[in-house]
Amino acid sequence: MNIHEYQAKEILGSFGIPIPRGRVALTSDQVERAAKELGGHCVVKAQIYAGGRGKAGGVKVVHHPEQAQELGKELFGRRLVTPQTGPEGLKVRRILVEEAVDIASEFYLSITLDRSTSRYCLIASAEGGVEIEEVAQKSPEKIHMLTIDPFTGLRPYQARKIALALGLSGTLCEDCVTLILNLYRCCLEKDCFLVEINPLVVTRAGWLMAMDAKINFDDNAVYRHHEYPDMLDYSQLDNLEINAGKYDLSYIKLKGNIGCMVNGAGLAMATLDVLKEFGGEPANFLDVGGGATREKVAEAFKIILQDEDVKGVFVNIFGGIMRCDVIAQGIIEAACEVHCALPIVVRMDGSKVEEGKKLLFESGLNVQIGENLGDGAQRIVKMLG
Ligand code: GDP
Ligand code: MN
Repeated sequence: MNIHEYQAKEILGSFGIPIPRGRVALTSDQVERAAKELGGHCVVKAQIYAGGRGKAGGVKVVHHPEQAQELGKELFGRRLVTPQTGPEGLKVRRILVEEAVDIASEFYLSITLDRSTSRYCLIASAEGGVEIEEVAQKSPEKIHMLTIDPFTGLRPYQARKIALALGLSGTLCEDCVTLILNLYRCCLEKDCFLVEINPLVVTRAGWLMAMDAKINFDDNAVYRHHEYPDMLDYSQLDNLEINAGKYDLSYIKLKGNIGCMVNGAGLAMATLDVLKEFGGEPANFLDVGGGATREKVAEAFKIILQDEDVKGVFVNIFGGIMRCDVIAQGIIEAACEVHCALPIVVRMDGSKVEEGKKLLFESGLNVQIGENLGDGAQRIVKMLG
């Protein structure tokens, strides 16, 4: 789960990490007022769920409150396109106004869950800032990494090793050690998948400060933090993904034209593989879960059909907990409600499968039954071809 930069900074601040003074604005007048309060010389930062804003014109230094207001007018409502947003971009609905800081040097610092070691990994580089992706690609030796043992946690000497590798010395080095340990504490206590500071800067005045922050919460831990759902900015999310979340369906939009409805993540992945094998392109990944109800199946079906790229639907369900006739009813209900004339292929197996097939045949929908996974995949590809 993503949150905005200003929210991430608030959290870092609560863990003792220095952040610039700032205000969040929802209108260009608020941008002006915030800039006035902060002394006029400010940084105006578009808040979207993506990085790369600096290069896309979403982060700018201004010198007067009126200039801040002008920039606010320009940014609000605009879709900011960065390498991380995709071509359609993300709409700017909130702007962070911060006191401008004189920067002496920029570093990169993050802690993220490394799935290959199942551990948190600390990543740091003395070449932080907007070019970090390029640094990682062209000179990986400039990126320092440290795997954190969950039983001992991050030790001060390890944090010191990183601070020294960044070229810091004296009190600045010790401040950095404290900051890194605080970042790790934040990561654990807030159940983060990622905490990233880029750039972490040394100011001309000689202080460390987090100039940009990104936090990603671990979705599986959201239930432990009752305040998290309220932190979401729905304007930054895909509509279909929001609906899927409401019904507890795992839905991810993909680029193809075959809508897929499957129960179980493993079966869903196998379905996408087999579809591809026969030349099909899945439009989404959708797992309705093991014990999905008729209502849930209907909702899932509607979500698939709302995607305008979908030209046909492939349903692959194993009726173990869920009975096949119930699934069939869900499909028929949803398809009729939205007047779906698209080709549908259903492959199902398990309890009450004959009853389910009979319901589908008698439904009047443009539906075919697949005998098995391969047959079903071939059918839907053929119906679209
Ligand atoms: P990103 O491009 O989405 O990662 O946005 P950032 O918040 O990292 O901003 C991009 C760049 O703007 C940073 O790497 C800094 O170099 C610069 N920047 C941000 N805030 C300030 C500031 O207060 N003063 C100065 N001089 N530069 C800043
Ligand atoms: Mn940044």
